[in-house]
Amino acid sequence: MHFDVVVIGGGPAGLQAALTLGRARKSVLLCDAGPRRNAAATHVHNFVTRDGTPPDEMRRIARAQLAAYPLVVLHDGAVRAITGQRDAFAIVRDNDIVHARRVLLCTGMRDLLPPIDGFDALWGTSIVACPYCHGWEARDRSLGYLARNPAPVEFALMLQGWSPHVTLFTNGTVDVEPSVRARCAIQGVVIEERPIARLHAAGGRLTSVELVDGAHRAIDVLFHHPRQSHVPLVDALELTRQPTGHLLVGATDAQTSIAGIYAAGDLVTPAQSAIGAAGSAMFAAAMINHDLCPLLHPVPR
Ligand SMILES: Cc1cc2nc3c(=O)[nH]c(=O)nc-3n(C[C@H](O)[C@H](O)[C@H](O)COP(=O)(O)OP(=O)(O)OC[C@H]3O[C@@H](n4cnc5c(N)ncnc54)[C@H](O)[C@@H]3O)c2cc1C
Repeated sequence: MHFDVVVIGGGPAGLQAALTLGRARKSVLLCDAGPRRNAAATHVHNFVTRDGTPPDEMRRIARAQLAAYPLVVLHDGAVRAITGQRDAFAIVRDNDIVHARRVLLCTGMRDLLPPIDGFDALWGTSIVACPYCHGWEARDRSLGYLARNPAPVEFALMLQGWSPHVTLFTNGTVDVEPSVRARCAIQGVVIEERPIARLHAAGGRLTSVELVDGAHRAIDVLFHHPRQSHVPLVDALELTRQPTGHLLVGATDAQTSIAGIYAAGDLVTPAQSAIGAAGSAMFAAAMINHDLCPLLHPVPR
């Protein structure tokens, strides 16, 4: 049970990394615990050749393609801990330990949804984070943006690229700069500052946002950037982070602050997308392959 690389996380990043490393003739173990971050979403958008594909179908295709590479092994299960060092990592699974020369973290991020009545049930359908993923489907509808500190409230202005009907909800907690307030007034973005009491839905779709005084705002699609956390496995490694909380990796090698542990996908950037995760993982996998190539390292004298 020795591998060149153990890739942890089988979302778009981990699947792409396994493909790149498998094609580079490296032995790879891809461990995936599930669930995927976009578990609540019905379709993946804005991924060329896969626009509108159900996420499970994307994973099925990716796994089928990986089956062509004999050195790639898939394991449906969690990694509990990583110990050891470059060239000699021990990866602790539920029932055993495997060994790897390099580790690639593709564990994504966990979304921490706000405690608003009705929010969880609508996440991924009527409540989404990214207009590049869901803006087209929401075009010309009644859109809301639920801001939170320190998220930029200017995001509400950008949503007008998809619909002229935009309401900025501060939930009584976010200050709106006078300059943004003036810009919203000019562009017709409604600013709603009363705290939100609950969300209402019909047929599984958001219909309105109820405010603390009982008033309602009719909204079809609500955008929100939830707070995020790393999975416990990553927290335990105490890796150096960016100010946003995402892992800091080398721009030229995708390596974390622990030599031999690399990272790619959502956990290294707040600009998150399926194709972005796959792209960063392809780069990280190539850098690992480069690092494993003996000819690229001088023989010690
Ligand atoms: C509701 C929603 C809708 C979205 N829609 C779109 C869209 O339409 N288009 C788009 O481009 N992007 C979309 N995104 C964003 C996209 O899903 C992410 O950017 C993408 O999934 C990130 O890929 P990743 O591989 O980095 O992480 P993930 O897809 O989150 O995969 C991480 C994997 O690691 C596994 N894992 C975590 N810890 C462990 C462990 N200890 N051991 C083993 N496995 C572990 C998880 O179970 C998971 O399967 C959406 C996101 C959300 C939340």
